[in-house]
Amino acid sequence: MKDVMKTVPVFVYNEHETRYRFNDTHPFNQKRLLLTFDLLRRIGALPAEAIVAPRLATAAELLRVHSPAYVEAVERLSDPAPDAHWQREAPRFGLDTEDTPFFPGMHEVTSYVVGGSIVAAEQVMSGAAPHALHLGGGLHHALRSKGAGFCVYNDASAAIAHIREKYGVRVLYVDTDVHHGDGVQWSYYADPHVCTLSIHETGKYLFPGTGDVSERGEGDAFGTSVNVPLEPYTEDDSWLESFSDVLAAAVRRFRPDVIVSQHGCDAHAYDPLAHLQCSMRVYRDIPALLRKTALEHCGGRWIALGGGGYDIWRVVPRAWSLLWLTMSDHPLLSELKRDPELPLPASWIEAWQPESPVPLPATWLDPVHSWPPIPRRDIITEKNRQTKQIAMMYLT
Ligand SMILES: [Zn+2]
Repeated sequence: MKDVMKTVPVFVYNEHETRYRFNDTHPFNQKRLLLTFDLLRRIGALPAEAIVAPRLATAAELLRVHSPAYVEAVERLSDPAPDAHWQREAPRFGLDTEDTPFFPGMHEVTSYVVGGSIVAAEQVMSGAAPHALHLGGGLHHALRSKGAGFCVYNDASAAIAHIREKYGVRVLYVDTDVHHGDGVQWSYYADPHVCTLSIHETGKYLFPGTGDVSERGEGDAFGTSVNVPLEPYTEDDSWLESFSDVLAAAVRRFRPDVIVSQHGCDAHAYDPLAHLQCSMRVYRDIPALLRKTALEHCGGRWIALGGGGYDIWRVVPRAWSLLWLTMSDHPLLSELKRDPELPLPASWIEAWQPESPVPLPATWLDPVHSWPPIPRRDIITEKNRQTKQIAMMYLT
């Protein structure tokens, strides 16, 4: 085994990915890729040699996780003026909704997203890089024959399918987006070689409504679907306790060869689409836990993807930069440990403040001590602990 500490991780990105855009008022806005890229560049954390371009996924790669009828519908509805027949078909494929409306060029740009996640997987599995990050990916809600929740093709499922087909190893998928990772769970619900672990706000109050702790997989794969639904208004301590304990139990039970993780950062208190109350602390600690797990149990093999995150100014650039800094073992993290009030680079704030509708944060972490306390904290913590204990009991 190669010494993974000495090799450089890969950052999959190019400007094609910012074209994944439904319309001007849609909350899914890939300008956040640019804001993150610019922040990392300004602190000198993104050397040119780390950057690898995505590519288009092939038809065969799409068809590993989507039905031929769905891929055809996406292709036809990518036309700037789709014919009436295909417009009538759009609802059957979930592509007529306010969340996931069809748009011109959709097939091509989403194929880049899928190809980017496969490139990231291949870099790691071939041994070219210890870890790989593809922030344009993580579109975890797309189903086999249906677009959903801002997701057209499911790049996470496609990357896992690539790993399974070419390398035949055991994959642990870890989804920390505030929404349940339903699309990936259903892709592998009956596959005992892929374990999906999703921690999210309970589906009682949030899209997509699934992700109950009782969803455990089927047939030979019973036990390889793990869900940790958390209460609304969950804060850092309870979130991290639930995540770290269940992750450790899942790794012990499943013994993965590689980790594929999805890094939606919409569990943050500022996020407009959900109700959790986490701070930037979880987005510092999640990557650290995953890296440690990958190094200890998977020979370092770790592919990380983007995901949700709708406060594109205050949350996403910091969260995703911390993810890359962790993957690349950057010295800024030790500085952050010594000084929790470490400032963001002034030049980044000056460059983007004029465009931002909200004041940009001054520091990498949030001043949580000045946030108002959450009512019912003890009750929320206790309920989450009960859920965690059920999830862990299922893993013993
Ligand atoms: Zn989400």
